[in-house]
Amino acid sequence: MSKKKHSQVTQLLHNDYQKGVEHGSLHQSIHTSVAFGFHRSKELADVFQGKTGGYAYGRASNPTVTALEEKITLLEQGLASCCFATGMAAISATMLTLLRAGDHLISSSFLFGNTNSFFNTLTTYGIEVSFVDATNTQNIIDATQSNTKAVFVETIANPRTQISDLAQIGRYCEKQGLLYIVDNTLTTPVVFQPKTVKAGLVINSLTKYLGGHGNALGGAVTETGVFDWSSYPNIYDTYKKGHSHNWGILQIRKKGLRDMGATLSPEAAHHLAMGAETLALRVSASSRNAMTLASFLADHPGINQVFYPGLESHPEHTLAAGLFDGFGSLMSIELNASIDCFAFLDALELVISASNLGDNRTLAIPVAHTIFYEMGAERRASMGITEGLIRLSIGIEDSDMLCNDFSRALLAVSQGKFSRDLLPEK
Ligand SMILES: *Cc1c(COP(=O)(O)O)cnc(C)c1O
Repeated sequence: MSKKKHSQVTQLLHNDYQKGVEHGSLHQSIHTSVAFGFHRSKELADVFQGKTGGYAYGRASNPTVTALEEKITLLEQGLASCCFATGMAAISATMLTLLRAGDHLISSSFLFGNTNSFFNTLTTYGIEVSFVDATNTQNIIDATQSNTKAVFVETIANPRTQISDLAQIGRYCEKQGLLYIVDNTLTTPVVFQPKTVKAGLVINSLTKYLGGHGNALGGAVTETGVFDWSSYPNIYDTYKKGHSHNWGILQIRKKGLRDMGATLSPEAAHHLAMGAETLALRVSASSRNAMTLASFLADHPGINQVFYPGLESHPEHTLAAGLFDGFGSLMSIELNASIDCFAFLDALELVISASNLGDNRTLAIPVAHTIFYEMGAERRASMGITEGLIRLSIGIEDSDMLCNDFSRALLAVSQGKFSRDLLPEK
């Protein structure tokens, strides 16, 4: 990890204490109060009118959540962040806040399944969406229309790990005055900061690596300060307060969080903030494991293909090496056609069949049958998702134990030693 990123993690670790928590506490407390009282009622009015900072009602803001927002802002080196109950809430609130009927959104076609589903819902509200293969920037250029407002891309696409030329797209968006929104969930701010490629807004699902322990849901939007909202037509006059670089996140907080109401709970915020303290350590351990396992699986006769950006065989390996500080810990594998993916998953003993990623434990999921099932075979094919594709989110376990688990399971299924019915109940 670079020196600069390490200094951001250090700031994160000390932020609560330095800002001052009661009793010299080292962590911000879990504030469960929904309402906040004022000795002078005029002060309550000032908070409502945005004249002073402070807390009035828990749906709009909470001190425990603010402490987490500050940490994410530090990690992304942005201006401000707004947290939500889930990553999807962060994405949906951002889009519903900033786009209006008649607007056009360009999105990478390689998308997290629920983001894809939500963007399809947007089209029923009169918002046009073009899904393009963003690994070729020309497709974004060709899709641009006079009503295009924003471009949305994931850093490493979930699950097939396609990577777009994020810097080239950023330069194009800047030239065209388009809002550039980057979902940084798979890389996290210790591997990549989308601000460096001119993204105006950054989305993080905190449920994944940021929290890291699979014990709390959450999402965040960060304003990087790159985008000048004064030329963006959808900002309401009420939110044109202060420097124009802050208008977007203010409108997201008011229209997206306060009005739509997907507020992060203080208890979840505390879990996520504790997890974030070890983000850099976990990411470097899981990425190291992922590299070891990807190399091992790529050479294994039971595996047809491994999609992992750290492998030189990955089509965007060089691009990833230039953009990122590491290659993350998500990969997808295609088994030999003769191996049934369910039988293989059931033969794994350490690795768990579960739908999450960024957990400390290694998790596996048969993509076409689960998270990408609803979209249908045609859309799956356009995303490069075959029926037997398995997504692996690599954890921080002992790498020998992980490789052994895969090796043993592959041997078992390829020898026909296991059939699904013969396996013991897990
Ligand atoms: C999981 C995920 C989301 C959604 O996050 P939730 O917290 O599960 O709502 C968004 N984008 C990507 C890339 C994800 O992996």
